[in-house]
Amino acid sequence: MINVFQPTLGEQELAAVAEVFNSSWLGSGPRTRQFEEAFAAHLGVDPENVLYINSCTAGLFLATELLELGMGDEVVLPSISFVAAANAVASCGATPIFCDVDPHTLNPSLEDVAAAVTDRTRAVVLLHYGGYPGDVARIAEYCRKQGISLVEDAACAVDSRVAGRACGTFGDIATWSFDAMKVLVTGDGGMLYARDRSVADRARRLSYHGLQQANGFTKAQVSHRWWELDVREFARRVIGNDLTAAIGLVQLSRLPEFVTKRRQVTEYYRRELVGMPALRLPPPLPAGHRTSYYFFWIQMDAAIRDKVAADLYRNDIYTTFRYPPLHRVPAYGSTSVLPGSDQSAEETLCLPLHQGLDQADIHHVVTQLRKSLEANANH
Ligand SMILES: *Cc1c(COP(=O)(O)O)cnc(C)c1O
Repeated sequence: MINVFQPTLGEQELAAVAEVFNSSWLGSGPRTRQFEEAFAAHLGVDPENVLYINSCTAGLFLATELLELGMGDEVVLPSISFVAAANAVASCGATPIFCDVDPHTLNPSLEDVAAAVTDRTRAVVLLHYGGYPGDVARIAEYCRKQGISLVEDAACAVDSRVAGRACGTFGDIATWSFDAMKVLVTGDGGMLYARDRSVADRARRLSYHGLQQANGFTKAQVSHRWWELDVREFARRVIGNDLTAAIGLVQLSRLPEFVTKRRQVTEYYRRELVGMPALRLPPPLPAGHRTSYYFFWIQMDAAIRDKVAADLYRNDIYTTFRYPPLHRVPAYGSTSVLPGSDQSAEETLCLPLHQGLDQADIHHVVTQLRKSLEANANH
């Protein structure tokens, strides 16, 4: 079976994990700090503003706490978002308001976001679909002018930029995912960035029991009675650990290699599929934009999409659609009418895209896809 997503892990990661075993320090410690520093350098921000946590979902929940969102507040997010973003908003008592997306990029335009904003809007939670930055720069500028906070769900955008500036650094808070299906993986893990230093400090407290604390592993910072508690807020425990951070450090050093490979697969798909009747490819990357090439998606008539997915599956090719529109999930009680999101959900299929694909794999994908499209077009 050709997977749609798959991590690349090897001897280097294994050696890094072995080193952590030998150090006997598995918890949050020196490797965690090193990973935060390396990731901050990758983003071009101060390491004090970056925090390694155990998932992107935890980061989204933290963001709602850091922004003190609650009852009566509205938060705008694209309907084509991962379920975690809406859950984070709904669980703090705020109301998720879903906005539409462009049916070809699957990202919302500034106009889509602005159309959902009311005088109760406190925040926007924006992702970068498939790693493509979309309108993030304009949306960030708009939010700043309106006094609305911007949270970037940067789970897809580990190596995405606009004019050299890293996605995730446009808004007030951002959170990345390193779960097993992402470009950079640590098993489970996430990074949180807060533009404001005091917000980042508070995020550190909220990620570990609400405790004001020195880093336990640095001897110099240990106080006279180091076991005493300084509880500032009542909070959970969502910190990362050295075992996964050690994997993350290796993966971060390999990120350019991963993204290059994903770009090559994307270019192959484009070259082979361009001009195919009944098939639409993702729009080209705008000048100055850089993507992480997290998804490669194709679009076709809604009447044949599921048949094509089934044909590919029968030929050992797994495909999927990310992300099923949230305005159609009854639990969120949305009454929004979002034709772009509906169209995206019916016409889009994400093809296998990962570093482990070889030439035979992608040739097989393209061949079977062509065959299926031709067969279905004749019906
Ligand atoms: C994967 C993903 C998440 C969740 O990440 P976890 O680290 O698994 O919590 C959130 N948002 C988007 C856009 C994602 O793709």
